[in-house]
Amino acid sequence: MSLTHLSIKDAAAALAARKISAVELTQAHNNAIAALNPRLNAYITTTPEPALAQAQAADARIAQGNAGPLTGIPLAIKDLFCTAGVRTTAASKMLDPFIPPYESTVTAQLLAAGAVFLGKANLDEFAMGSSNMSSAYGPVENPWKRAGSDAKLVPGGSSGGSAAALAARLCLGATGTDTGGSIRQPAAFTGTTGIKPTYGRCSRYGVVAFASSLDQAGPMARSVEDCAILLGAMAGFDAKDSTSAQRPVPDFQASLARGVRGLRIGIPAEYSVAGMSDEISRLWQKGIGWLREQGAEIIDVSLPHTHYGLPAYYIVASAEASSNLARYDGVRFGARVGGEDLIDMYERTRAAGFGAEVKRRIMIGTYVLSAGYYDAYYLRAQKVRNLILRDFTQVFDKVDALLTPSAPTAAFGFGEQMNDPITMYLNDVFTVPASLAGVPAMSVPAGLNAQGLPLGLQIIAKHFDEEMVFTVAAALERAAAFSHLPTVRAA
Ligand code: GLN
Repeated sequence: MSLTHLSIKDAAAALAARKISAVELTQAHNNAIAALNPRLNAYITTTPEPALAQAQAADARIAQGNAGPLTGIPLAIKDLFCTAGVRTTAASKMLDPFIPPYESTVTAQLLAAGAVFLGKANLDEFAMGSSNMSSAYGPVENPWKRAGSDAKLVPGGSSGGSAAALAARLCLGATGTDTGGSIRQPAAFTGTTGIKPTYGRCSRYGVVAFASSLDQAGPMARSVEDCAILLGAMAGFDAKDSTSAQRPVPDFQASLARGVRGLRIGIPAEYSVAGMSDEISRLWQKGIGWLREQGAEIIDVSLPHTHYGLPAYYIVASAEASSNLARYDGVRFGARVGGEDLIDMYERTRAAGFGAEVKRRIMIGTYVLSAGYYDAYYLRAQKVRNLILRDFTQVFDKVDALLTPSAPTAAFGFGEQMNDPITMYLNDVFTVPASLAGVPAMSVPAGLNAQGLPLGLQIIAKHFDEEMVFTVAAALERAAAFSHLPTVRAA
């Protein structure tokens, strides 16, 4: 099999058996990126030379017999993670040029496990979006096409570069971040797999902040097992992140073969939303059937406050964003644009540095936090957030996991859904409740729609029960046997 099509699991085995070298594996990916990235724009920055040096070190480590779980595995890193000595943009003009002097904890752990970094993956500016159209470095093209059409489709967002790179075989695994769906929705749009772990499972240290009470790093890959391998290396307590959880990291891979026999799977009534396509309803039914056939008990449940998830999310996330992004003032952080006085300099810097969506979020966030509106919007959204959390806590007394669709539609075209920001926000209807509650949730590819585009199903479990998510996801993956390939891909 071609080197760029391997799973992380198989590549690690081939490397350990010395059937392939890390240098060969990295070179194959560097070549694929050189051929396809000019078209797809999945990477903002590529680092082919440092990647080869890391691969050489990996080969030496394997030869010495002390390989880590990811030694020699080429990854794409979402350009929201600070990488020492490598430009980090958050897909914003605001940060350019920013070359971090330090490494984020998650990427440091991946490097310690032996991973090779191919480059920095494109995203929506400051991770705000569902399409990757808001990147200051240009949109990412989804390698999938509608049957009989060459129209460019979005890969989803905000981790769209990571997702497109995976689907097009321009990396074996990737990091993403998920504030309201940014790992799960792009995974669904590209036929790939991604998990948003429990809030606190992976350190946020060195990840450019969007909404700190929601931001969570997680792995994206082409199989559930590969996600389990990656998460094992990314997760763990970090004293540098005050919300990092002091929890042991379980052997996530061990949960894959457990099977769903006897598990109680909840189907939340509120996720049958208006406007959801028939194809997605059918796929959801199919997923329910697969789990039932494998011995799971299917239970209808209710998460009554689901409906308020989107408005609460867009208030809380924007409020936190407006506060987090205040640091880009041309003094402490940010590319300064000179002005007549201090205020003028701030204004020019922020006007030039931020794109339209980021400005919109800052304005919404500032508004909902302002005197007179704080109680009406921000405080109320926090209360709703609590009710949503309570919905999940109560339902997990009755069921082990929930099954829902990942996104209300398949990948849409460049320019579609762009006229009205609210339409774009609706993409997150199935993903934001788990984000507000902080529970782990994963998207797995489950089938194709009539136009030949991938669709995903989402599995949600209780806090720190990623193992349950993986168990159910692996069962779905076995049943779906999704092996379709996108149109645009490396050989
Ligand atoms: N699409 C959502 C937003 O725009 C989620 C983004 C994210 O998870 N980073 O806020």
